[in-house]
Amino acid sequence: MNFAGRPIGQGGETARLSFENIRHSYGQGDIVRGVSLAASPGEVLCLLGPSGSGKSTLLRIAAGLEVPQHGRLLIDGVEVTGPSAFLPPERRGVGLMFQDFALFPHMTVGDNVAFGLQRLARSTRLAAVDEALARVGLDGYRDKYPHMLSGGEQQRVALARAVAPRPSVLLMDEPFSGLDSRLKDQVRAETLSVLRETGATVIIVTHDPQEAMGVADRIALLRDGCLVQVGSPRALFARPKDLFTAAFFSEINRFDADVHEGHVDTPFGRRSVLSTTAEGPVTVAVRPGDIRLFEEATLSATPAEVMERRFLGTEERFRLRTEDSRHILEASASAGQISEGAERVFIEVADQTILVFENQRQTPYTRDN
Ligand code: ADP
Ligand code: MG
Repeated sequence: MNFAGRPIGQGGETARLSFENIRHSYGQGDIVRGVSLAASPGEVLCLLGPSGSGKSTLLRIAAGLEVPQHGRLLIDGVEVTGPSAFLPPERRGVGLMFQDFALFPHMTVGDNVAFGLQRLARSTRLAAVDEALARVGLDGYRDKYPHMLSGGEQQRVALARAVAPRPSVLLMDEPFSGLDSRLKDQVRAETLSVLRETGATVIIVTHDPQEAMGVADRIALLRDGCLVQVGSPRALFARPKDLFTAAFFSEINRFDADVHEGHVDTPFGRRSVLSTTAEGPVTVAVRPGDIRLFEEATLSATPAEVMERRFLGTEERFRLRTEDSRHILEASASAGQISEGAERVFIEVADQTILVFENQRQTPYTRDN
């Protein structure tokens, strides 16, 4: 229910946000090319993609800061951007949190958080500020100034400011990128738990696949303004639709091969492929972590020479060369699993971790300009 005069999606409910065939250009060439995507109420949806893929543009369109040339944007079924409507940002009831999360340095924490609450009566406003600060674990910080706070605390103030008006949709553009990496995990976890508590529908933009997997219910992977694949982190990681998606989530070993009579020859032996895979050239891809290493030969293992090894703490990285076919592979193993000085190992790769992409459907991980 939306009451007259009250922004859509405000008041602590949760909302569905839908992009319908959004196209956008800043003048030359389309930056967003026909994106249709919906975030369900209460969902944390990540827009993930390399720099320049149109993530921020989509978010700005959702916020009402950018007007697309085509398509519609709906919040709970109400058209807020489209041929017949445009609702300005402040009337949409969406919360925004951007990369630099700039707090006003000359204003107290309390005044910063109250920034989006000017329309409320003073006593209600103060109560809302206190509630938001309590939510992010900063009770008692109201009269401090931003410079008195650590980076993580400033981030929490920015979060409090974003959630204080109780938006039902929260749009966050690379909200953790300003934090150093040690702080990031903790702030991310705290932020997520606050977001879950508020029940808001959240769209988070990031270019970092680890971050997306860590926070998202679903990931929408963008490339050159188009959606490549949408699904749970697990689905995108385990069943990437193409090589671009596979390579975006982790380093990957890739080999050219041919499918013939339902089989493909890989560096780890002949494997059968799905019956839907067409005959002809394919790319076979395997993640380093899916290559298992042994010091003793097994029946199905492929011998390989250790060319290089790097100790990374919990894991070790190996550069290997298969003895028969002279393929070069990157593999990882738990630290200490392979004895120091080992010159030869045996590798095994489970069928389900071998990804086979038909070449005609494959898209290289580069921008085609
Ligand atoms: P991302 O957030 O995925 O890095 P953006 O949506 O910011 O991508 O930008 C996509 C493309 O649009 C980039 O090539 C960028 O240079 C261009 N772009 C973004 N904003 C503007 C603008 N205001 N005017 C012109 N070009 C822009
Ligand atoms: Mg961006």
